[in-house]
Amino acid sequence: MANKNGKKAPGNIIKWILSVFMFTACLVYGVSFASAIFALLGVYFLPLAPIQNFIDKFMPKKKVLRGLIAFVIFVVGCCVAPQVETDTPDIPDVTISTEATTNSTTDATTDTTQGTEGSGEQTTPPTTNTTTPPTTETTTPPTTQPPTTTPPANSSFEVHFIDVGQADAALVLCDGKAMLIDGGNVEDSSLLYTYLKNHNISHLDYVIGTHAHEDHIGGLAGALNYASVGTAYCPVKTYDTKAFGNFVSALSKRGVSITVPSKGSSFTLGSASCTILALNTDSSDPNNTSIVLRIVYGDTSFLFTGDAERVVEQSILNSGANIKSTVLKVGHHGSESSTSYVWLREVMPQYAVISVGKGNSYGHPTEEVLSRLRDADVKTFRTDMQGDIICVSDGKNVTFTVDKNANADVFGGIGGNSTQTPTETQKPTEPEETQKPTETQKPTEDDNDDKQGTHYVLNTSTKKFHYESCHSAKKIADKNRQDFYGTREELIAMGYSPCGNCDP
Ligand SMILES: [Zn+2]
Ligand SMILES: [Zn+2]
Repeated sequence: MANKNGKKAPGNIIKWILSVFMFTACLVYGVSFASAIFALLGVYFLPLAPIQNFIDKFMPKKKVLRGLIAFVIFVVGCCVAPQVETDTPDIPDVTISTEATTNSTTDATTDTTQGTEGSGEQTTPPTTNTTTPPTTETTTPPTTQPPTTTPPANSSFEVHFIDVGQADAALVLCDGKAMLIDGGNVEDSSLLYTYLKNHNISHLDYVIGTHAHEDHIGGLAGALNYASVGTAYCPVKTYDTKAFGNFVSALSKRGVSITVPSKGSSFTLGSASCTILALNTDSSDPNNTSIVLRIVYGDTSFLFTGDAERVVEQSILNSGANIKSTVLKVGHHGSESSTSYVWLREVMPQYAVISVGKGNSYGHPTEEVLSRLRDADVKTFRTDMQGDIICVSDGKNVTFTVDKNANADVFGGIGGNSTQTPTETQKPTEPEETQKPTETQKPTEDDNDDKQGTHYVLNTSTKKFHYESCHSAKKIADKNRQDFYGTREELIAMGYSPCGNCDP
C-alpha cells in the first residue's frame, strides 16, 4: 500500500493536508498532552514511504478501520486540549455588571445596596460579570493587604464628601477615629474649620494631602486650626506655594511634620483598614504624585485617587493590587485625564462621587468620564449639584445622603452647568476659580488634560474614527459613540479606519 504512494497523488495530498493540520494543532496547544496526540497524528498522516511502511506493520490493513482509529485518537486529542484564551483587546466592553442590585432607585435621597466583596481579596466577582475578561484577582498583590474583619457590633463608618467647589475634601469617620483626605482651596479654610466644629471633630488621626496642589491642601490649615492631628501624609514635604507653606506651618503648630508614606503601606482607622496603593514622589506632575488610598470596611470598600491620571491608574492595574471598590471617588474632579475604561472596569464601583465646582473653567466633569460612568451603570453623585454627600457603611451596605437635588440628573448637566433648584442657596465660600481670575482656559497649576493625545470620536459599529468636529461624528448614535484619546496608529491597530470626510 505504501509502495503505491507514488500513484495515489490525490490521497497523498489529503494526507499532507491532514498532517499539516495536526502539526498546526500541536503548535497551538504548546506543551500539553493534546499536543503530543496531535504530533503523533501529524506523523501518522505523513505520506512518506518509510513512515507508512512502519505503520503498515502495526496497523490493520483495512482503510476504514485505520481511519476510524485515527479519528478516535483525534477526538481524544480535542477533548484533552486546553482552552486557548484569546486576548480581549484593550477597548473594553463597557458593560460592567455591578450585579443586579438597587441602582434603579426612584427616591434618590438615600440609596442602599449590597456592598461588593471589598474584604474578600481572593473571591471572584459576582457571577453576572461574564463580559469582562479574567481579572488579576488571583495574582498576589505586591503588598500584603491587612486582613479585614467584620466590624464590631457598635462600629460605624462614614465618608463625608464635603462640597468645596472645584477642589477635594473628604472626611472619613470610623469608630470615633477621623481622617481628612484633602481640604479644599485656601478659601475653604473657614468652611473646613466650621465643618469639623459642627461635627465635633477636635482630633484628626490622619490628615492626607493627596498632592501639593492648592485645591487639595489649601484649606487644610483651617481644619488644623480647629483640630489636632496625629499623622499627616503627603507625597512631598515642600512645595513652592503659599498655600503649601500655610499647610506646613499649621501642622508645625500642632507639633507634626509631613510624613511621606511608603507605597503599599497600611494603617487602620478604627476597624477600617487603609492601604496606600500608589504614590509617585518622583513624578514631575504633581497630579501623578497623588496618594491613592483604598479603605476597606467590612465588605465595603472606598477608593480615593486624588488627581492621579491614567498613567498612575495603569501602573496600579499592572501591579495587580486589588482595587475593586464599592465607592470610587472619581479621580481629578472628573477630568478626561483620569478614570480610564480599564480602570473603571477593574474598580467596578457601584457608586461614584465627583468633587467638582459648578461652572468651573476646566469643563470638569467631562462628558467622557460621565458617559463612562453612565455606561458602567455606576450610581454617581456630584458635589456641584448635590452639595455635601455623606456615605454611610454598615460593613455590608452603603447608604448615601445628599444636601440637595437628590434626584439631579448627574449625567445630564455636562460640564457642571446643569440646572439647579432655584431656591437652593449657594455656599458663599464656593471659590469658583477665584484663585485664578485671569485664566479662562487652561490654568497652570492643576490641569494637564491635553497631553493624553488627540481626541477622536469612534463609531464602534462602523469601526470608523473621526475628529471631534467632524459632522458625521455628531450623527453617531449614542450607543455606538465612544471617545478616544490617543494616536491614530493606536486606533488603526485596534481595527478602526479613518473617516473619509474629516480624514483624521
Ligand atoms: Zn485637584
Ligand atoms: Zn491637582
